Amino acid sequence: MRFSNTLLLLILCFLVITWTVRSVPPQLPVQCDQTGCTVSNTYGVWPDRTNCKAAKVAYPTTEEELIKAVAYASEHNLKVKTVTKFSSTIAKLACPSGSDAMLISTSKYNSVIEIEPERLTIKADSGVSLRELIDKVEAAGFSIRMSPYWEGVSIGGLISTGSHGSSWSGRGGSVHDHVVGINLVVPATSSEGYAKVVSIEEGRDDELLNAVKVSLGVLGVISKVKLSIEKAIKRSITYNFTSDVALEVMFMEYGKNFEFGDIRPHPLVRASNGNTAVYRYDHRSPDDVSGNGVNDFIGFQSNAILISKGVRALEKALETSKSENGKCKTADATLAYKKLTGKGLKNNGLFFTGYPVIGTQGKLQSSGSCLYSSSFRIDLSCSWDPRYNGLSFYETTAIFPVSRFRDFFLDVKKLRDLKPERFCGIDIYNGILIRFIKGSKAYLGQTEDSVVIDFNYYRADDALTPRLIQDVMEEMEQMAFVKDGAKPHWGKNRKVVSLA
Ligand SMILES: Cc1cc2nc3c(=O)[nH]c(=O)nc-3n(C[C@H](O)[C@H](O)[C@H](O)COP(=O)(O)OP(=O)(O)OC[C@H]3O[C@@H](n4cnc5c(N)ncnc54)[C@H](O)[C@@H]3O)c2cc1C
Repeated sequence: MRFSNTLLLLILCFLVITWTVRSVPPQLPVQCDQTGCTVSNTYGVWPDRTNCKAAKVAYPTTEEELIKAVAYASEHNLKVKTVTKFSSTIAKLACPSGSDAMLISTSKYNSVIEIEPERLTIKADSGVSLRELIDKVEAAGFSIRMSPYWEGVSIGGLISTGSHGSSWSGRGGSVHDHVVGINLVVPATSSEGYAKVVSIEEGRDDELLNAVKVSLGVLGVISKVKLSIEKAIKRSITYNFTSDVALEVMFMEYGKNFEFGDIRPHPLVRASNGNTAVYRYDHRSPDDVSGNGVNDFIGFQSNAILISKGVRALEKALETSKSENGKCKTADATLAYKKLTGKGLKNNGLFFTGYPVIGTQGKLQSSGSCLYSSSFRIDLSCSWDPRYNGLSFYETTAIFPVSRFRDFFLDVKKLRDLKPERFCGIDIYNGILIRFIKGSKAYLGQTEDSVVIDFNYYRADDALTPRLIQDVMEEMEQMAFVKDGAKPHWGKNRKVVSLA
């Protein structure tokens, strides 16, 4: 009992301290010494837990320097992988095969952003961060209609893995479906100088564009990305904490009715009339409705390093002692706190005072305040920052054709009803996030309108330590990828999913 109370206290501190502060920036993913370079991802550990080595790294700052870097690799017959400032890919995509390979980093290739107001497009260097891009577009009176929820990504990196937000409207929820042009740097013959730029435009080079816009970094280095933009968008968000009854039927209407909506069922936590699901009523708001709201999603806020370590230590202890009950109490406390704080929505940029939260697209679609440094708060970081042994978790992401999602979700409910407590480990994180993406012409995109689910859960420090009730998560993975026709997100998942 005392153990659970300590846990709850720690969770509460964790959640409260994350509320208003900013933190030390994440470490750069490429570290080099005399023996070569190591590439890691933002979590500091790849799915197979082995290091990724490369011989050298180039840091171009312009397209000309990027061409030179590719030419050097081509002339010397070196394998190349593009890495970014963020390395937010969970899958080991940014790792070249062979430790004699060369990395080309776009972390310093981020100075040019050009808006073409009359054509409603923006063209940017591929290393430009999502936040820089959003701020520039919004300052000019426009909006990027779609982006992932996490802003710790570059424009070149995020389209390469098919990253998405949530929408069945317009061009849809996948960012690559808003791409109207790409400059790709590829190897070339010696007479061409060993590298050249291929300029690809929507309407003129559609086959090439469909191949390149989601290409996992294997077709060349994306140098520039041109996106379609819209006149400034204002949005209104309300989280409705309600029952998950009939969710497997209602998701269709819901997905059609709410342009930016998502749903988060929390399988364990019980509402008065059934299990809880959080429906995000998220749609456009008229321009003349005032609102300065910000979505500073709780999971992407800064945490006190000591608290992240403490929560991790307690989560480990609950795993070791096989305490389902402790996990359930944590899940209850976490959801109650999220309800109280609007999950990080802030009406005036500072506090959550009630629904709806109205604001601009740029402040509501993507977030990640733990990314930004403050010289006087070195005690804070993103909760998963590997330098401080904080949270460590897996993320399973499955993308279903719309017609297959109902069966999957009914099976999840059956599994839940056998013993709801077994889902507490998932509820501690974010429950099951359900998002919507449209069918895409990208060859590595989804061919039809789809429903995407994400769920996070504890990851042990070493590969041989079993997770508490891991059969539930693995059952869900198998149902999704083997039985119900889901495909993985290219940038996420455990390694086993790629074998399914
Ligand atoms: C906390 C967190 C939250 C996330 N939330 C979402 C979400 O809401 N929705 C979603 O869809 N995804 C989400 N992701 C996944 C993330 O969006 C993708 O992994 C994305 O691809 C990462 O972009 P990056 O700029 O960090 O690229 P990296 O991770 O560095 O690279 C990803 C791949 O793209 C290649 N690449 C990068 N730049 C180029 C280039 N210029 N030319 C050619 N190839 C290139 C790399 O070689 C690599 O194969 C999340 C990830 C994290 C860690």
